[in-house]
Amino acid sequence: MNRVRCLVLNAALGPLDYRVPHGSDAPLGSVVVAPLGPRRLGGVVWEDESFGAPEPVGDNRLRNLFEVVPVPPIRAPLRRLVEWTSDYYLAPPGSVLRMVLPGAAFADARRPIVEYRATGERPARMTPQRTVALEKIGARQGIVRELAALGEVSEAVIRGLVQTGALEAVSVSADQPYPEPDSAFAPPDLSSEQAAAARQLRDAVAARGFETLLLDGVTGSGKTEVYMEAIAAAIDAGRQALVLLPEIALTEPMLTRFAARFGCEPVAWHSGLRSVERRRAWHAIASGEAKIVVGARSALFLPYANLGVIVVDEAHETSFKQEDGVHYHARDVAVMRGHFEQVPVVLASATPALESLQMAESGIYAKIDLPSRYGGAQMPTIETIDLTEEKPPQGMWLAQRLVDGIEARLERGEQSLLFLNRRGYAPLTLCRNCGFRYQCPNCSAWLVEHRFTSRLACHHCGHEAPAPKSCTECGEPDCLVACGPGVERIADEVAERLPQARVFVATSDTLNSPGRAAEFIAAVEAREVDVIVGTQLVTKGFHFPELTLVGVVDADLGLEGGDLRAGERTYQQVAQVAGRAGRGSKPGEVLLQTRHPDAPVIAALAAGDRDAFYSAETEMRREAGAPPFGRWASIIISSEDDAEAREAANRIGAFRPDVAECMILGPAPAPMALLRGRYRYRFLINARRSVQLQQVIRRWLAAIDHPPGVRVAVDIDPYSFV
Ligand code: ADP
Ligand code: ZN
Repeated sequence: MNRVRCLVLNAALGPLDYRVPHGSDAPLGSVVVAPLGPRRLGGVVWEDESFGAPEPVGDNRLRNLFEVVPVPPIRAPLRRLVEWTSDYYLAPPGSVLRMVLPGAAFADARRPIVEYRATGERPARMTPQRTVALEKIGARQGIVRELAALGEVSEAVIRGLVQTGALEAVSVSADQPYPEPDSAFAPPDLSSEQAAAARQLRDAVAARGFETLLLDGVTGSGKTEVYMEAIAAAIDAGRQALVLLPEIALTEPMLTRFAARFGCEPVAWHSGLRSVERRRAWHAIASGEAKIVVGARSALFLPYANLGVIVVDEAHETSFKQEDGVHYHARDVAVMRGHFEQVPVVLASATPALESLQMAESGIYAKIDLPSRYGGAQMPTIETIDLTEEKPPQGMWLAQRLVDGIEARLERGEQSLLFLNRRGYAPLTLCRNCGFRYQCPNCSAWLVEHRFTSRLACHHCGHEAPAPKSCTECGEPDCLVACGPGVERIADEVAERLPQARVFVATSDTLNSPGRAAEFIAAVEAREVDVIVGTQLVTKGFHFPELTLVGVVDADLGLEGGDLRAGERTYQQVAQVAGRAGRGSKPGEVLLQTRHPDAPVIAALAAGDRDAFYSAETEMRREAGAPPFGRWASIIISSEDDAEAREAANRIGAFRPDVAECMILGPAPAPMALLRGRYRYRFLINARRSVQLQQVIRRWLAAIDHPPGVRVAVDIDPYSFV
């Protein structure tokens, strides 16, 4: 009899045994649909000996598979990656497999999808909801669910609009072929420094083996141009290339750049895709037809038929760390995927993570340097403004020297960028009369005022309320005070002090779709913007030749809270945003506003001494036993009921293992003691590298049961310490 073991798409289950129906064939890696109780469940045929080789189920209890899905089998290197990720991050293998097989995998790519789009006709009966929905949808097209999300209305409203004829059905094919990228379409004329780096990457791709290459080049050195040569080498060899980006907002400009180099846009993969695009992309990736894929971290687990190279751009970015579901770090998993697939992995960054530099220093990663900007552009000068001496005017946030700098740029027709990593108008709102501070009902966090929308919003859970006219606590009218600056407030200040300036606020609120991001870029390139006020969204990727001044509104902000990476993160952020200045022929200037000009990280930035900063930081980590010299893990226990969460944490604490060279701190209320309505307690574990950390945690937690309302989340190599 033909029986198989399958890993199924269910977080609570290990592998299950099934019978292969007569006449079907289900070799290892086959994608299948299997019965589970009354349900149908996707899965993959897996090796018997994986996941601790559970006892097989008796022949008499085997059920037949429903179907072997006609897509290419999941290859062994990806199966090994699923196992490794599950094991390393203590995540259910079914949850990891979900990233390989999203819903799109099971949808028949040959069947067209019915989408809807506006006809321009107005329904006879127009409601305010319908008006707003049609306006928000505009010329875009999608399935009912997507249009409901775009229009911010229920699906019933969309269906109503279809019935009235305001929206019409269009049949869209999901299996149109993608155009073929052409490696010879428009290759750049590389500088000799770039050519040497490109040669090394091309050789690594041609060698068809695993190697990690750290492409360490200053901002504007041409890292993108250089790693595109590795991609060209991969497609020349008939293989696929994957480029991971830290933000969706960066995909759109990157698609355009790739189109200029290879003659057509690459295949995009991120959470903003329409379902038809998702289906088309998944199947083209699995068949090998999608040659170049540019995507967010979720693109890492897709079943590439024939991978030739992986590039992680801006590899130091902490947004590569996934903070819910499977807590994986896409940079680290990318290196593991390269290892299993036997292909090179390129980590590109101007400010590599200390962990990556350490690997290069130990000779485990190859290091490729691009120390100068392309085309003779100079690195910008960096100066500090000591806010304790050069005080901004009362109620303002920008020192006169910075405002003068912006004004000088205005006169010359150049552009300025003000960086402040705080969305909204003000991070805290309080009542002048009773002192009440507006806090999120679901989180230990202040509500942030957004003046554009006249709302108070929580940046952790998405809670929003209209900004009240009078204090909700004491009833006093017009007594709310905004405390501290956000980007909107800085934009107001610029408009007030330099009324002639055209100001654009660039944050995830205003650049919330690839289309909006593209409009922003076009406006800046057309010089319709004089001053950009932005969060970290604008610190990377963008190339604006007329931008010659960068002002960092509060260089100390990242050092607050003081977790282990605060110094490094500040260095990276400021160096990245500084890298936006003077990328064309005109020199750039950077002004850092700070209250601590002597803090090591600020002093290093001003002196342009990256090596000194990194070596001091490395020493500190070594002494603290912090990564990469030691390891951290965190365990968060949460429940909607505070007492239940605390009891569960104490119960876990009572079983704390006693392991040499492994220090367990807690349980203690997490710094974010309440998040999205859940009370949180935390353990922090610091261990020497020699300790089998995952095994210690797995054994510890396995012995303890909890009520159903309790969630226990383990974070290996955490980046967030809240
Ligand atoms: P990085 O990624 O290191 O910040 P980019 O690859 O974005 O640098 O390059 C900076 C700018 O210089 C881009 O506009 C890029 O097109 C241009 N550039 C870099 N190298 C070359 C080259 N060899 N030929 C033409 N333009 C180049
Ligand atoms: Zn909240």
